[in-house]
Amino acid sequence: MSAENYRFNVGSFECIVVRDGTFAYPYPAKNVFINYFVNAPRDRLRQVLGEHNLDPEQWEQYVSPYFSLLINTGQRRVLVDTGAGGLAPTTGRLISNLQAEGVSPGDIDTVILTHGHPDHIGGNIDSEGKPAFPNARYVMWKDEWVFWTSEPNLAGLKISEHGREILITAAHDNLLPIQDQLDLIDHETEIVPGIKAVAAPGHTPGHTAVAVVSDSEQLLYISDTVLHPIHLEQPEWYSAVAINPEEVVTTRRRLLNGAAAEKALVLASHFPFPGLGHVIQKGKVFQWKPFETKN
Ligand SMILES: [Zn+2]
Repeated sequence: MSAENYRFNVGSFECIVVRDGTFAYPYPAKNVFINYFVNAPRDRLRQVLGEHNLDPEQWEQYVSPYFSLLINTGQRRVLVDTGAGGLAPTTGRLISNLQAEGVSPGDIDTVILTHGHPDHIGGNIDSEGKPAFPNARYVMWKDEWVFWTSEPNLAGLKISEHGREILITAAHDNLLPIQDQLDLIDHETEIVPGIKAVAAPGHTPGHTAVAVVSDSEQLLYISDTVLHPIHLEQPEWYSAVAINPEEVVTTRRRLLNGAAAEKALVLASHFPFPGLGHVIQKGKVFQWKPFETKN
């Protein structure tokens, strides 16, 4: 196994968290914490950050990991999300990290896109603008596709005009070229045997989680339902890029309640690598318990 990747099993399925890179978020607001918890009362936010040994004055930049999930079911090779491609010099390592595992782009038969943000679809195409996974069917929730491929209204987002332009341009550049290989879904459905799309709207209109079940073991890839472990403890604090904040909160409660009750292994896109852990129910809120990794 490459040091870039993390391999684990869900029942008989072989899974690998494949690194794409990292991205340092310079937000327009001086303090990045505010962008992650945009509606948090400032005093309370200060207190909670302190409980996590985070200094609110020191967080002017936040380095987030980016990664994708590869699932080999035995019959199928499924990739969930494609990283950020050329978004930054520190991103776009997905293909070489797949190759380090002996997987070439042509081996992938299904690409599931959880949502249309640049860090999840940025590797959809190659340097010539063609689909990077030539033999795959790309699967996305219909509402998500329609939102990003039309002229989305992002006026409600608490980010800069430049930030809004990046989101729209990246969506058009990375979604339109895959049209001929695209399958849109409009309800929760099994995409391949053992791998199911779960509605998780709010972060974006058709944001999708992915449930993986094999031999009574399960993994729930919650993508950007939560962006930081503090979101489990404060499920009502949402980020500056949440398209529908109320829905974010409802979706969080539904998915986190389910994951805690089922004791499912959970994968969160932007948690410290490899992003795996369990959700513990604490009354009406939750807590993140990172998975003890073997390496
Ligand atoms: Zn993301």
